This record gives sequence, C-alpha cells and structure tokens, in this order.
Amino acid sequence: MMKEYIEEAEQALLHTYNRYQIVLERGEGVYLYDTEGKRYLDFASGIGVFALGYHYRDYDDALKAQIDRLLHTSNYYYNVPAVEAAKKLKKISGMDRVFFTNSGAEAVEGAVKAARKYAFLKDGRTDHEIIAMEHSFHGRTMGALSVTGTPKYREPFAPMIGHIRFAKLNDIESVKAQLSDRTCAIVLETVQGEGGVCPAEKAFLQEIRRICDERDLLLILDEVQCGMGRTGRYFAWQKFGVKPDIMTTAKALGGGVPVGAFLMTEKVGSHSLTAGDHGTTYGGNPFAAAAVSKMIDLFEENAVTTHVTEITPYLEEKLDGLVEKYDLIAMRRGSGLMQGLVCRNAVGDIILKALEEGLILINAGANVIRFLPPLVITRQHVDEMTEILDRCLAGTV
Ligand SMILES: *Cc1c(COP(=O)(O)O)cnc(C)c1O
Repeated sequence: MMKEYIEEAEQALLHTYNRYQIVLERGEGVYLYDTEGKRYLDFASGIGVFALGYHYRDYDDALKAQIDRLLHTSNYYYNVPAVEAAKKLKKISGMDRVFFTNSGAEAVEGAVKAARKYAFLKDGRTDHEIIAMEHSFHGRTMGALSVTGTPKYREPFAPMIGHIRFAKLNDIESVKAQLSDRTCAIVLETVQGEGGVCPAEKAFLQEIRRICDERDLLLILDEVQCGMGRTGRYFAWQKFGVKPDIMTTAKALGGGVPVGAFLMTEKVGSHSLTAGDHGTTYGGNPFAAAAVSKMIDLFEENAVTTHVTEITPYLEEKLDGLVEKYDLIAMRRGSGLMQGLVCRNAVGDIILKALEEGLILINAGANVIRFLPPLVITRQHVDEMTEILDRCLAGTV
C-alpha cells in the first residue's frame, strides 16, 4: 500500500524533493509511524518544527477549540489570539514589534524589506547593500534566496534581488571587507542550520554588533531553525547577549502549524514599514496565532528551555563517544539540541540505513548528520538513538 501511495505521489507532485521511500501517517510523542505501522524514533522533528513531540494533548485541544471559534479573518481587523501571541513573543524575545508570516522565508523577506526601508528613510537612496554569510540558508523565495550563501541554490534563478555581498561566518575581516557606504544591514543565522550546523562565535557576533552600532546598520538574526528553545534559550542570540535589531522565527514557533514572524526593536519599528508597505492574507490569522500562543504557554509551563539545557550535555557526550569511536566522523558541532556530526564522506547512506532501522535523521549539506530532536526527548531516547546510529556506523546492519 505504501508503494502505491509513493507511485501516486510521484505522478501528482512536482519533483522538487528526493523523498525517502516511506509514507508517514501518525505521530505519538517522539515517535512517528508509517502507513504500515512501522515505528520511527524522530530525531528531525519535521526539520525542527515539532518541539513538543506529536499529539501533545493540550496543544491539540487548543487548536481544536480555536477551529470551533474562528479559523481565519483578515488583517483588516484585530483578533484576540494574534494579540496574545504577539504579547508573549515580545516577552520571551525582548523585542518590541511583531509581524506574523506564514513561513520562515517570508519572515526573512519581511526583515530584508524592513532593513531597506529603514535605510531609505535615512538617506533616500535606493542602492543599499546587505551583507550575508557564505553557506547560509534563509529560504527559497527570491529575497530569502538572494541572501542564501549557497550559489547552486541561487544560480538557476538569477538575477537575484541584487546588492547582496557575502562574507564568511566567524571571520570578521571578511565582513569588514564587504562594508561600504551603502551597506544597510548584516544578516546571519545565529547557528547555521542547513549549511552544516555551525554556531556563530560570541566574539564574532559582538564585533558585528559593534560595527552595526557604529554605522547605524541593522543586525538581522535568522532564528528560524535555532530559535524557540532549541539551544536552551528561547533564542540563540540570548546566549551571547547580542541583541539583533530585527530577528526572524518560524519552524518550532507554531509547533506544526505553518507560521513565522519577524520582530524588531522600537527603533526599527517606528522608522521602517508603515501602513501599505507590507502585508499577508494569512499571516497571524486566529488559528496560526492560537498555535503560537499555546506553544509559548506550554514552553513556560513545562520549563522546556531548562530541560533542553539539562539534556544537552548527555546528547553531546553520546555523540562525542561516536566521534571517538569512528574515524569517518571528524567532529561534533552545534548548540543545545541542534547538533551535527561532521563526517569525512557523504552521509546519505548512513541516514538511509538509520531510517531502515527505525531512526529518522537528516543531513545538513552532504557531509553532516544533523540532529534536531523534539525538545522533550529524555535520556532514554538519546540512548535509543545512539544505539541505532552506532549499529549503522559499524556497518553491522
Ligand atoms: C528553514 C529555514 C528558513 C526557511 O523557512 P521556510 O519555513 O522553509 O520558508 C529560513 N531560515 C532558516 C535559518 C531556516 O532554517
């Protein structure tokens, strides 16, 4: 039966993904089940989305209740869940203004527009530049793609939005080399995800902040993947004490409901986008906003960030054990429950083997095995993951 679904999918869907050959049907906690009932331990959580695990009763109930009240209305009117969600998001981030989007890419689009408008209002020029990082990933829409640092993603779709310069993460001289009198913003992921699970260094971020302050440039931190508790703080930049002017969030923000947001300080909020400058039909609709609001409540009630901080050393220790044991793994890299094993060769086969053994993992680039488990995992889940992966690496399965 699974095979038939896959064949039908290949007839109907555009071939933009090389999908694994399973059809997932339901989830429970940190496990997923395919249509044939096989169980998988999920260490990818739908690319860092399902922070609380699947079928979380209180979350499901809140969504069902919102469906019964009001699913959608437009941004021409106010709605209660959006107010609640925005207030809570301000509180956990310390930012001042929120704009809800439907995805991470759209959050990046909005951030870039806000930065350009801020600069435009200052000097009236229309040729401002943005500095982005090599190996970064910000999404697939044209603006987000334009600041994405992987040429092969961009090239077939050229021309990009233009005036984007690329520097190297954690190489401050490379950033300085790209500065000009037209630079208006610097954009980076606090922890690079797709590019290979690579955290920004504290000194690098601090120096970027200093440069931005000195020249009145805006620092945009993309927290779509590393945010919402994944590194043990709500947002990874909170670990470094380097506050952005604009930040983006999505993935785990709605816990499975498609929603993102870009947030800014009052300085930017009151000198950038105004009525008529930006909008979206769905963004922050009552259903999506109810999901955000409930996610933040559940994070607070269950002290999720504390749990992440407590479980992280155990995961790191287990992964370090694998690094020591296997020559084919060069190193471990990451922050909190966003970890990568950097391998000397392509990791596709290992990930496939793990899948066969009932463990869902994903890659980050060709050589990195990426770990983005639900934030509620326990030591027992870490042990189970390590045991399966160990077997796959040993080649005994
Ligand atoms: C996934 C991701 C995006 C894009 O989010 P979508 O919801 O897929 O559009 C942007 N930035 C980062 C850092 C991401 O990991």
